[in-house]
Amino acid sequence: MAQSTVNFRTFRNLVSRNKKRFRNFLTRMEKKSIGQVRLIKLEANELAWAKTDCLDCANCCKTMSPTYTKKDITRISKFLGMTSSSFKEKWLYKDRTGDWLNKKQPCQFLDLNTNMCNIYEVRPEDCAGFPHHGTKSIRDYGHVFKQNVEFCPATYRLVEIMQEGISDGKWKLK
Ligand code: SF4
Ligand code: SF4
Repeated sequence: MAQSTVNFRTFRNLVSRNKKRFRNFLTRMEKKSIGQVRLIKLEANELAWAKTDCLDCANCCKTMSPTYTKKDITRISKFLGMTSSSFKEKWLYKDRTGDWLNKKQPCQFLDLNTNMCNIYEVRPEDCAGFPHHGTKSIRDYGHVFKQNVEFCPATYRLVEIMQEGISDGKWKLK
C-alpha cells in the first residue's frame, strides 16, 4: 500500500484543535463580498497546492464518495465495457436524495499501491473538480468547505492560509 507522506494522526489532531475556529472563519467569509473573498481564495489556493500533493494523500478517494451524474455513469460504464445498469448494480447505490454514490470505501477505482485513479481519464466530474476551491464561492459552498476541512488537507491549508493572511494584514477585507 502507498505510504502517505501526509501524517493523518497529526492532521486529525490539527483538525480537532482548529475546526471550530475555521468554521467560524468560513461563516464570517460567507457574509463578505464574493468578489473580495474570491481574490484572496484564489491566491491562498495556489499557496495551499504548493504544499499539497494528492498522490501523497488520496484521503477523498479513501473516505468519501463522489456523486455520479447520469453522464458520468454512461461514460465510465462504456470505458469499462459494461452497461450502465450493470455498472450501477455492481458499484453504486442511490441515497435518500436520489444521488448515485459508491457502495464501498475506499473507492473501487483507487489503486491503493500508488494512490492513483484507475479510471482517471473518465473519472466523475465531482472527482475532477474536487475540492472545488477555484470554482465554488465560499458564500455558496461554505457549508461543504466546512466539512472538507476535516478530510482534505488542501482545504485545511486553504482555510488556514486565508485566515492567517487576513489576521496578519496581508489581505484586507472591508
Ligand atoms: S483533494 Fe484533498 S483529500 Fe483528495 S487527495 Fe487531494 S489533498 Fe487529499
Ligand atoms: S473515481 Fe477515481 S478520483 Fe474518483 S473517488 Fe474513485 S479513485 Fe478517486
